[in-house]
Amino acid sequence: MHYVIAGGGAAGWITAAVLSRYLSAPSTRITLIESEDIGIIGVGEATVPVIGELNRLLDIHEPDFVAATNGTFKLGIEFVDWGETGRRHFHGFGDYGEPIAALSPHHHWLRLHRQDNTIPPLDDWSMPWAAASQDRFAPHEAMQGEAAEFRHAYHFDATLYAAYLRKIAEKHGVKRVEGRILHAARHSETGFVTHLDLADGQRITGDIFIDCTGFASLLLERAMNVGFRDWSHWLPCDRAATISSARAGRLTPFTRSTARTAGWQWRIPLQNRTGNGHVYASSFLSDDEATARLFDGLEGEALGEPRMLRFTPGRRERFWEGNVIAIGLAAGFLEPLESTALQLIQTGAARIIELLPGRQPEPALADEYNRRTTLEYERIRDFIIAHYCRSCRSEPFWRHVAAMDLPDTLQHKLALWGASGHIALYDMESHREPSWVSVLIGQGVLPRAYDPRADMIPPDRLTNLMKQRRAYLAQAARKMPCHDYFIDKTCAADQRL
Ligand SMILES: Cc1cc2nc3c(=O)[nH]c(=O)nc-3n(C[C@H](O)[C@H](O)[C@H](O)COP(=O)(O)OP(=O)(O)OC[C@H]3O[C@@H](n4cnc5c(N)ncnc54)[C@H](O)[C@@H]3O)c2cc1C
Repeated sequence: MHYVIAGGGAAGWITAAVLSRYLSAPSTRITLIESEDIGIIGVGEATVPVIGELNRLLDIHEPDFVAATNGTFKLGIEFVDWGETGRRHFHGFGDYGEPIAALSPHHHWLRLHRQDNTIPPLDDWSMPWAAASQDRFAPHEAMQGEAAEFRHAYHFDATLYAAYLRKIAEKHGVKRVEGRILHAARHSETGFVTHLDLADGQRITGDIFIDCTGFASLLLERAMNVGFRDWSHWLPCDRAATISSARAGRLTPFTRSTARTAGWQWRIPLQNRTGNGHVYASSFLSDDEATARLFDGLEGEALGEPRMLRFTPGRRERFWEGNVIAIGLAAGFLEPLESTALQLIQTGAARIIELLPGRQPEPALADEYNRRTTLEYERIRDFIIAHYCRSCRSEPFWRHVAAMDLPDTLQHKLALWGASGHIALYDMESHREPSWVSVLIGQGVLPRAYDPRADMIPPDRLTNLMKQRRAYLAQAARKMPCHDYFIDKTCAADQRL
């Protein structure tokens, strides 16, 4: 079986590394074609904790990986001015502690908040925030009890990351071909892709073709004519202006996302620089204004010129068609608000391993791949829309997103939340209850009711218990090393680059 991967960005090299780890030669060959002239998109610097599974699968040594990619650690995302100007909340990679009387702690917080709306924010019961708010970091394995209930992810240089994965994949036997793909030929009867013709005259034949050609989607869209489902009506942001700036101050162990008049701005700390980007809706803000706002938001001196990127949010109608499977930007795009793109690449590659190895592509396998991938995209889409649709900000963009129709799945979720404080979790959700709770309560979207069982705990007992937990987490976090110090001691980039 010959797998041909077209494209060598993060999607191509993650897929190549995963496939080569599982599928053994000589029965399997893997070839990856990429073009240095075209290059990679080179953004995609914030991740979510599921990347830890990928690292374990590929036997990646964390300090080596972080050092090689100029990386830092990430405990979550701080949202600033979302919901309304002046508001801050944290989506941490963890929960709000053990259930109390078999109920998620947020119900108890809601009860206390109803009695006294000056109580500390729910974030104070999150271990990731306890650490992040003090710029401290240690992996959860170094902690104990409730203070160990969190996970971490990374920030890294996207170009160095692709190069790092390339080394791993090549070590496992992936053959890299340099060249520009001009044409994909299809079999006249089956419609399957039979080979790719490159500009220099090379012809690459194969059995399975994985389209990792980024927004170009050369194989799935151009060769197989699979359409695109446009989600702009729910996610109107369609551009990003990006720039790096000089590192300023301490390294924060979190991404920051600040709401702007027609979108939002990210701040991603790397060891040697800070990544910045302004994601915005071009129908509400001009490119010039967006670039000016990007510069206003920089903490350090700008490095180089801004880059402008255009995108259409949405997904392919099908991700697997015939013998072509698209992964990465070729498969779809959701704005990077929750850093989910690399996760979608990772789960796509894992799904290929589960459904395809050594088999001919059959319709049932493709249907299952498409069913699950569709749901995964739609769940993440709903989660991202939830950051916009209940905002009280007054600018035209925010009034527009607060008034738009919502997907049925999200409507139900928000209705249930409003009526009960419960989250309806569907099949293939990437974000569990604490994530939804953090985004909704964080933006001030409080339900009309909480679970009545919360009232069964005597008020004094509950108040004491919540106080103790909060103090315990803050104290546990104080024992963690500073994030800068942890990096210096374990994985400093300048020792190795
Ligand atoms: C503004 C923005 C911010 C983002 N931020 C994040 C983030 O914080 N976190 C996150 O997880 N994701 C983020 N993403 C998404 C992330 O960048 C991508 O998912 C990731 O980089 C994978 O891209 P890719 O490999 O699919 O495409 P690309 O990096 O574009 O790679 C495409 C590959 O195909 C090759 N290619 C194309 N055409 C041809 C041809 N004709 N012949 C040969 N080779 C060809 C190219 O050379 C390249 O190797 C962001 C995306 C954008 C647009």
